[in-house]
Amino acid sequence: MIYQSTRDPALTASAAEAILRGPAPDGGLYVPSSLPDLRPALPKLLTLDFQGMAAAILQALLPDFTTDEMTALVRSAYTGRFETADVTPTVPVGGDYILELFRGPTSAFKDVALSILPYLMTASQQKCGVTDPVLILTATSGDTGKAAMAGFRDVPGTRIIVFYPHGGVSEVQQAQMTTQEGGNVCVCAVRGNFDDAQTAVKEIFASDLPLRLSSANSINIGRLAPQVVYYFKAYADLLRLGRVKLGDPVDFAVPTGNFGDILAGYLAKRMGLPVGTLICASNRNDVLADFLRTGVYDKNRPFYKTVSPSMDILVSSNLERLLYLMSGDAALTAALMAQLRTEGRYEVPADLLARLQADFFPGRCDDEQTKAAIGDVWRAHHYLCDTHTAVAWRAAQAYKAARPGTAPVVVLSTASPYKFPAAVLEGLGGSSSGDGFDLIDRLHALTQVPVPENLRGLRDKAVLHRDVTDIADMPAYVLKKAGEKEWNA
Ligand SMILES: *Cc1c(COP(=O)(O)O)cnc(C)c1O
Repeated sequence: MIYQSTRDPALTASAAEAILRGPAPDGGLYVPSSLPDLRPALPKLLTLDFQGMAAAILQALLPDFTTDEMTALVRSAYTGRFETADVTPTVPVGGDYILELFRGPTSAFKDVALSILPYLMTASQQKCGVTDPVLILTATSGDTGKAAMAGFRDVPGTRIIVFYPHGGVSEVQQAQMTTQEGGNVCVCAVRGNFDDAQTAVKEIFASDLPLRLSSANSINIGRLAPQVVYYFKAYADLLRLGRVKLGDPVDFAVPTGNFGDILAGYLAKRMGLPVGTLICASNRNDVLADFLRTGVYDKNRPFYKTVSPSMDILVSSNLERLLYLMSGDAALTAALMAQLRTEGRYEVPADLLARLQADFFPGRCDDEQTKAAIGDVWRAHHYLCDTHTAVAWRAAQAYKAARPGTAPVVVLSTASPYKFPAAVLEGLGGSSSGDGFDLIDRLHALTQVPVPENLRGLRDKAVLHRDVTDIADMPAYVLKKAGEKEWNA
């Protein structure tokens, strides 16, 4: 199995090369030429612990690495880094299940993939005989930036620059990023939203700056592949709980922005995991919900700042991978992406829409509904969820009402509620006046839910990064920083 661009199957790369590059040279995204079929392996695979499952699944998806190599990388990445030894616990809540993906070092689901990406990157450098340093450019809607810097901090042979929307992330998210230590990390706010920042980063990749660039966003296959693992892990948990028998379908509700998390679920399904429906949950920026209903993707619409800011996205990069994987048609994918670039919209053929609708169910939820869901879940089940998780929870309830059935629904929980304390407090009926750190304390006093270790000391940490740039100046900023020998803020 090799990797190829979604826009041109002739542009191939080994898994290690794809990880080193991020996007493909034509601006497409790398996808596997064929997906491994893990069905014969499921009975054994689903009895393994998280690390065992991760090693087997990642080795199948990234076959440049031997099983022994992958086992060692997985062990380095996950041992002792997460609050729970099983990394991503599945918690029964009411009749549903919440898959807690936020128990890592920065309390965001991005930690699952970004704990191992630096190890994959370094190992890929070695495999490809690359000795010059890799400069990682990342646009973040709030969580990727911190998780990526925590992962790449002081990793030899790598440097990382993170761009986040100025005023577009929560106070806690901003503090997490601007206090990040490490001699190879750099954070810069941009005057624009996430889409602007992501587009500019993609343009920097496409220009030929004399730099070896890679990405820590889910456009990098090395970031996406590790996310496949927790779908298997959740399924294994439901088997152990006796909620399903091997082969029974399980539905997953996924709070969606850049479409990486939910695409990983689709990959798991194509690899043979009995995934039923993938519920694609959007906030008020509901471009995906409209697309799944109508087949028209149209980003020409107002951009809203919501209480689930990590999903405030109108251009969902990984949808490109889905279009290719479902159609098998690189020319079609390239044409649709060209249309998106020039007109800001495209429409998929009716047969493709029918296939999309067979696997995906759209849900949407505005801020008031999000906060109401947080209150409902707390009062009914004494479970405290964050705003993004609440969007998915609500979409899951809407799905069950629309299609009553017996399959369990697993709601992916993507962040700690303490990263968004203002909106969570409002959801519980409390007051949200005061700074983000006071609100963390107040939320704790109200709920007694433990505050994650990494957020506890945040208030007292020194701010090390204060740069702000215009979108148009991002390439110059990257060149300037790349030219500096020492970075320490
Ligand atoms: C990134 C993020 C999402 C969206 O995930 P995608 O892979 O971009 O769709 C949802 N919730 C939180 C908390 C996030 O940080």
